[in-house]
Amino acid sequence: MSAIEKLKEIRAVLDEQHVKLIAVSKTRSTTDILEVYNAGHKVFGENRVNELVSKYEELPKDIKWHMIGHLQTNKVKYIAPFVHLIHSVDSLKLLKEINKRAQSQERVIDCLLQVHIAREEAKFGFSYNEIEELLAADELTELDNVRIIGLMGMATFTDNEAQVRDEFRKLTDFFKKIKAGYFIDKDHFKELSIGMSADYSTAVEEGSTMVRIGSLIFGERNY
Ligand SMILES: *Cc1c(COP(=O)(O)O)cnc(C)c1O
Repeated sequence: MSAIEKLKEIRAVLDEQHVKLIAVSKTRSTTDILEVYNAGHKVFGENRVNELVSKYEELPKDIKWHMIGHLQTNKVKYIAPFVHLIHSVDSLKLLKEINKRAQSQERVIDCLLQVHIAREEAKFGFSYNEIEELLAADELTELDNVRIIGLMGMATFTDNEAQVRDEFRKLTDFFKKIKAGYFIDKDHFKELSIGMSADYSTAVEEGSTMVRIGSLIFGERNY
């Protein structure tokens, strides 16, 4: 099946559930991306700053670029002028830097807090406790140029669907809990970025509002 046919098949399911699709285009050529763009899909995700910036420069300017991978503080400045949503905020330090760079661009940058939900050891992401600490911090109210609009999580890489479902469900419950209980912009705090090629159906059943799908659309990646 071609990328376009795959895209349409996935979109049909997601549109019905009002779930947004981020087409993960890391490692793909601009030609591959343009094919999908020309079919009417304009939301793409990248996980490396250098690749994101060069694709932004080469491709049409109405693409909404999502940063989904680990972001180093010293690289925020390169994406601050154009990035649509950063899914991978994993420290207060990073959030402050995004705020600073957004301010100099006279923008407000939307962000998701990445939560470590997998059972595997992971280098990045907040624990549930750390998110609660962050949301209670006074400093947060001073960051006028970032808007926290939700949470992102990646389930354990496993065939055990029950485990994946359980991890997503806990995150959804946590999302509802903090939305009710913290000083956050409740009108805007509504996104839950869960679900990739292998587990997006489960994620949608468990409350995902955005899925990040790469290989299912573009085929397996060759690094
Ligand atoms: C690569 C990547 C995806 C997409 O993975 P697929 O399995 O190709 O769908 C989703 N989220 C993040 C953070 C990624 O790095």
